[in-house]
Amino acid sequence: MPELPELEVVREVLQRRAVGQTIAKVEIRPPGGLIVVRDLTHAGFEATVMGTTIASVVRRGKFLVFSLQTKTEPLFLVLNPKLTGRLQLAAATDKRMPRTHVEFTFTNGRQLRYVDQKHMGQLYLSYDLESVPDYAGMGPEPFDISLEEFRTRLKPFRGEIKGVLTRKEFVAGIGNAYADEILWAARLYPYRKRTQLNAEEVARLYEAMRTTLAEAVEKVRVEMGEQIELKPRDFLAIHMKTGQPCPRCGTPISLVGANQRITNFCRTCQPGGLIRGM
Ligand SMILES: [Zn+2]
Repeated sequence: MPELPELEVVREVLQRRAVGQTIAKVEIRPPGGLIVVRDLTHAGFEATVMGTTIASVVRRGKFLVFSLQTKTEPLFLVLNPKLTGRLQLAAATDKRMPRTHVEFTFTNGRQLRYVDQKHMGQLYLSYDLESVPDYAGMGPEPFDISLEEFRTRLKPFRGEIKGVLTRKEFVAGIGNAYADEILWAARLYPYRKRTQLNAEEVARLYEAMRTTLAEAVEKVRVEMGEQIELKPRDFLAIHMKTGQPCPRCGTPISLVGANQRITNFCRTCQPGGLIRGM
């Protein structure tokens, strides 16, 4: 569930609050913790992490990468929170949220906790990033590509445009929620085939991707503050707003699908249903 905007703000907070901290203690709380933690070093998760200092925190797509400073080789703690994982900064005395699976205690007494309602996320420990599952092969960050690169990268993908936007091989960091927001901003029907988009529509999509994500980072920054366990989404225009008026035209927001895979769109602003026979 966390996508580029949320993870980018989490990274900013961790840059201030976690970088430079030395990890004094690691606690993995079974059973969920044992599912979440993946030790690709095979040297023992707790033993390898303890005593290291967090040198940097970088976001790449929907991953957060902690570089841990050791006396010998480079070491990475890589978080892929998937749909339900989140981090929390806490004092050691703060009550644990339910489903707190992993706790890192810094030498200053503060803690970084990993919480995951369904333990779907993964916390990898690895000497190299390429061996982390799903990390290699990621496309560029949305803010790092030009319109021309965007057009070129789009060409091999022939499916429905929403599905293409959420493919990490195309661009990294966009999931189900922000794909809906971007397509609404671009006024494109989510089930249009990529091959049906003309040059002007692709340019609109590119602009909408960048402005939607940039504006979302600003809003999340204000609403999240230092509480990185939050997932502020009330400000979204249409995602999870089924039946509410479209902020642009007032048409009730449409819904297709169920559970984690829902698609919201505006039939008036994003026409195209007839093409698909809807
Ligand atoms: Zn509308």
